[in-house]
Amino acid sequence: MRYLTMCLLLLSATVQADTLIHAGRLVDVAAGEVLESQTIRIRDDRVVALEAGFVTDETAEVIDLRDATVMPGFMDMHVHLLQELDPPGSYAEGFYLNSADIALRATVYARRTLEAGFTTVRDLGARDIEASFALRDAINQGIVSGPRIYAAGKSIATTGGHADPTNGLREDLRGDPGPKEGVINGPEEAYKAVRQRYKDGSDVVKLTVTGGVLSLAKSGDNPQFTDSELEAIVAAAQDYNFVVAVHAHGAEGMKRAIRAGVHSVEHGTYMDPEAMELMKERGTWYVPTISAGKWVADLSEQDGKLPDVVRPKAAAVGPQIQQTFADAWQRGVPIAFGTDAGVSPHGANGREFTFMVEVGMPVMEALRSATVNAARLLRAESELGQIAPGFYADIVAVREDPFADVTALESPDFVMKGGRVVIAAASD
Ligand SMILES: [Zn+2]
Repeated sequence: MRYLTMCLLLLSATVQADTLIHAGRLVDVAAGEVLESQTIRIRDDRVVALEAGFVTDETAEVIDLRDATVMPGFMDMHVHLLQELDPPGSYAEGFYLNSADIALRATVYARRTLEAGFTTVRDLGARDIEASFALRDAINQGIVSGPRIYAAGKSIATTGGHADPTNGLREDLRGDPGPKEGVINGPEEAYKAVRQRYKDGSDVVKLTVTGGVLSLAKSGDNPQFTDSELEAIVAAAQDYNFVVAVHAHGAEGMKRAIRAGVHSVEHGTYMDPEAMELMKERGTWYVPTISAGKWVADLSEQDGKLPDVVRPKAAAVGPQIQQTFADAWQRGVPIAFGTDAGVSPHGANGREFTFMVEVGMPVMEALRSATVNAARLLRAESELGQIAPGFYADIVAVREDPFADVTALESPDFVMKGGRVVIAAASD
């Protein structure tokens, strides 16, 4: 009897019906084309076939998106799911929020991100690594609804650098954080910090190679790592197959990092032509985060929103990023989509498309930056970023034509992640 029950269970598990999506228009981001009237066949969490016309079969469930534009799920290469800048309270939160408080809030931010059509994100730096990895794992286990997360854990800085967690604290609270806490000085400590990230369970390594806007420190753009420290980080990262992402505003710090062989430059505010050429030569990805620049520039114009040491940095860096992005795109620097959501609000990630298109990027290229390009940066281009056989069934659809009005991408009408519907298109 037990054997029979077992067989029936196995049988019911294996005859799960296919899902068919009838797509009026399907964006083939790899080819840069829009295909008319396609059927996407989905089995479990993957796409198994793409067929011309609207195919049906007796057992399959059909999702009707004949009046919509259907695209691969979007991928944001720079978010911070454990926080949302809510000035002026944010700077004090570190003193009273516990890990559980942070984790609970993060589940809400994760859901908002997924509902905005972002089925994969890179979480580039969290102070509370327990909460960060717990969120990633709970999503993978299907307990919490959210995007696939590639998490950095704690960012690596040098003493007093942008990601030194003790910047601006009272002297007796400051201590002297080391590689375990993500603060290094010298190549030996650089190695140790990368190995610590491996031990922690990070998926990607994040460095802050120049000053930053929101840290309680004077400079927003000075170089903060030496060549030998950067070379050690990249060599250690290679041993553990880590992609290395670097926060950088100033040109000198970013050029040192690019020469050392990092994989992506985040923000890139004061990127000069030499840095752009280096990135093209080496295939270094640029992740612009225009959204964060715009958001902090807005805050800097209001009294009492940002600390005095931060306000002038936000006013200078914020408005520059969109122009830098336009120049880099013109020059042919490879672009992967990223917002820095957590600085800007979670769930508003799609506005980045609008900011990119505003300064000259075609909608198809903006979509490619958030799909095929992002997947290459993650080294996941064989299963993420396209709607094609073998790929995860991560799918977004919008009713309005995004090629006519890019703002349609800001609020998708349909979202599926790994074959499961997150937002169902309302029928007319
Ligand atoms: Zn960031």
